[in-house]
Amino acid sequence: MKNKLSKIELKLEFNPKRNYQLVTPCCHKSNKDGKFSNYKHLPEKYGYCHSCGKSTLPPTRYNDENGLQYEWNITNNCFEPVVLQMYSQNVLQMADQAVGHCKTAKNFVAIEPKYIPKALILRYKDHKPENNLLQYIRLTYGNKNTELVKKLYYIGSSKDGGTVFWNINKNQKAQKAKVSYYTKKGKRTNKFKVPFKNSDGYYSCLFGEHLINLPENKNKTIILAESEKTAIICALYIPEYTWLSYGGINGLTRDKLNVLIGRKIILVPDLSENAVTIMNKKLPFLKELGIDAKVWDMTNGKTDDQLKNEGWYNCDLEDILRGFSK
Ligand SMILES: [Zn+2]
Repeated sequence: MKNKLSKIELKLEFNPKRNYQLVTPCCHKSNKDGKFSNYKHLPEKYGYCHSCGKSTLPPTRYNDENGLQYEWNITNNCFEPVVLQMYSQNVLQMADQAVGHCKTAKNFVAIEPKYIPKALILRYKDHKPENNLLQYIRLTYGNKNTELVKKLYYIGSSKDGGTVFWNINKNQKAQKAKVSYYTKKGKRTNKFKVPFKNSDGYYSCLFGEHLINLPENKNKTIILAESEKTAIICALYIPEYTWLSYGGINGLTRDKLNVLIGRKIILVPDLSENAVTIMNKKLPFLKELGIDAKVWDMTNGKTDDQLKNEGWYNCDLEDILRGFSK
């Protein structure tokens, strides 16, 4: 069985501050004249040398279907899993020096990403009857608001009544879709479908990523909510922020987060001790990537038992906003 891998694109940006102390990795000279310009958010040994004209780049990484990362090992001539998820200097040096045996199969193929045609997205957006979630939003927030979010996020309806959430990237290209099924009351059921597969070149990105670089949103803080529905409804309540969803507690992978480098973000986990703890643990990783992130802890330090007693346990931001506006 072939395991398909996709290349992870690195965002390379020069660091305006040069390190005059380092020895250039390319021609091994002192950098006191500042000829070596390193990249932001990467260890200092990666950069461009104006003295010898050589770029020193980190090894290209690849993602598999489960979001695990791999690097091509030149010595062993095969892909090897990257166990270390952080680019901190010491860690990377260790990884560079590590000599090991190739445990992965040699039959990996890197496949190019594919995109879903816009015409298809529009067809799902116009499909009637509308899915349960949109019907719920219509009843609760009115037609004008519903049209607004439908247009903003291209929310579609599938023939079997599902809500289609497209993963459209910052270049306005649709990479993947998630079809979720809601009750008439707007509650999510356990059923969902992912029609476009990683194995065919369709990779997920953050839901709402297409909004972050629009001129009107460029300076807005980005809020990452757990569910798509929360992001959509909060976009109505608090349009001062750009609302994205990471689609579940394990959805914050490095390849999805790359687009947020250099941006201010707020993470909003659902109301449980566990969700908040997991998010707080992610903060150093985000900082390492160069993302200015905070966690909005809506539990206010309350335990799960207290939250259960008060009826807030596992609630999301929409539940809270609706609670306030009642
Ligand atoms: Zn050089």
